[in-house]
Amino acid sequence: MATTIAIANQKGGVGKTTTAVNLAASMAATRRKVLLIDLDPQGNATMGSGVDKYDVDNTVYELLVEEKPVKDVVESDTTGKYHLIAANSDVTAAEIKLMEFFAREVRLRNSLKAVQDDYDFIFIDCPPSLNLLTVNAMAAADSVLVPMQCEYYALEGLTALMETIRQLAEVVNPGLSIEGILRTMYDPRNRLANDVSEQLKQHFGDKVYRTVIPRNVRLAEAPSFGAPAMYYDKSSTGAKAYLSLAGELIRRSEQRASAEVSS
Ligand code: ADP
Ligand code: MG
Repeated sequence: MATTIAIANQKGGVGKTTTAVNLAASMAATRRKVLLIDLDPQGNATMGSGVDKYDVDNTVYELLVEEKPVKDVVESDTTGKYHLIAANSDVTAAEIKLMEFFAREVRLRNSLKAVQDDYDFIFIDCPPSLNLLTVNAMAAADSVLVPMQCEYYALEGLTALMETIRQLAEVVNPGLSIEGILRTMYDPRNRLANDVSEQLKQHFGDKVYRTVIPRNVRLAEAPSFGAPAMYYDKSSTGAKAYLSLAGELIRRSEQRASAEVSS
């Protein structure tokens, strides 16, 4: 069974896409079978995986609207290490089309049923809003990973986001949990970032990942190389941080699995 994780935060520019792409690449590097789904019409996760969003035959539009099977719409990232379902501006139309359908919130969940045994991890890169696409991601996911920057007001936004996720889960997916909160673009020399980070740990305890993603130029420039940072500079602090996040995720899921067995 695949573990499906939605990467979401309705705020833009917090590192969702960077996390989705680099986590997918890191999990693939640990020999996990990975599917990355780009649900953002901006197609940044698609381009960041080295796939040209202007030159793809299929996107999540074909998956969600035309109900093409996953195996017919996947692309590989440039190095063939993980699978991708691409997005581009067509996906904006998908969101509108979805409105017409019965059970429109669970289209993604239903389409992923057929590939549960083909992947270890399915990551979903969400758009920076709480639209029907994001609701589809939440309905399909086992858990939500929330990237955030340790800034002023960040906690307020996060508390609101958590409440929204809880309410959404009640309606479309009672089993949905918070996978974890990831501190991104972290600068340890910034006192405010340290303060916010401390408050975050007080509020959310061990939901906050131990791994911190530092601000790192390699992560920012990776999309212009059309590849996750770890494919061209494995030794960069950014690439290492995402590898360690992958390790933390694997350990946590193993701990959960063994807790379930013993309970
Ligand atoms: P989102 O998907 O939440 O909108 P992105 O992942 O696209 O956010 O990140 C926003 C911008 O910040 C991008 O230009 C990205 O390259 C840059 N960025 C993200 N994470 C880092 C990081 N750890 N260090 C430096 N730049 C980063
Ligand atoms: Mg994004």
